[in-house]
Amino acid sequence: MTVAVLALQGAFAEHENVLKRLGVDCIELRQAKDLETPYDGIILPGGESTVQGKLLKELGMFDTIKEQIENGMPVLATCAGLILLASEVEGQEGCHFGTIPMCVRRNAYGRQLGSFRTVAELKGVGEVPMTFIRAPYVAETGDGVEVLATVDGKIVGVQYKNQMAFAFHPELDNDTRIHEKFAAMVRDK
Ligand code: GLN
Repeated sequence: MTVAVLALQGAFAEHENVLKRLGVDCIELRQAKDLETPYDGIILPGGESTVQGKLLKELGMFDTIKEQIENGMPVLATCAGLILLASEVEGQEGCHFGTIPMCVRRNAYGRQLGSFRTVAELKGVGEVPMTFIRAPYVAETGDGVEVLATVDGKIVGVQYKNQMAFAFHPELDNDTRIHEKFAAMVRDK
């Protein structure tokens, strides 16, 4: 089993470290030709979603990854990654895959509360640490989207078919259960 980590910008190395700890092979997606390497799942890391979307288009990677996701490739997306998957981003047009029917609000916690840590329940997993960095939240979900976690009444984790998306950064905490859940999803595909 090999997991591909989108490595254009942002916190991709941290995801690779978690995968290594779990003994999961990973490759980096940096350019279009990397998309030809066989892999079984994709991680979309945090960072700056507008920059990532632009680079994906410029590097000719956008359409292929979108198709792979639509065809059932398991995806774990964190923070900016969650924004890339949203069908709607409040007040913004532009480059996102739009493969989860949901509306996302970027930088949704205001400047003062831009970054914070908490512990909250994740459906099917239990209490997990959650680190938020200028994070989005999910303002609205469409049909078939399962809510996995909420913090202060805001949706911060969802699953839709083959896609899991979180507003926080599990790769920055010393708790590998979310990556284990994803690895199991890739394995059982
Ligand atoms: N604020 C970023 C964005 O809107 C997301 C932040 C993150 O990925 N930590 O794209």
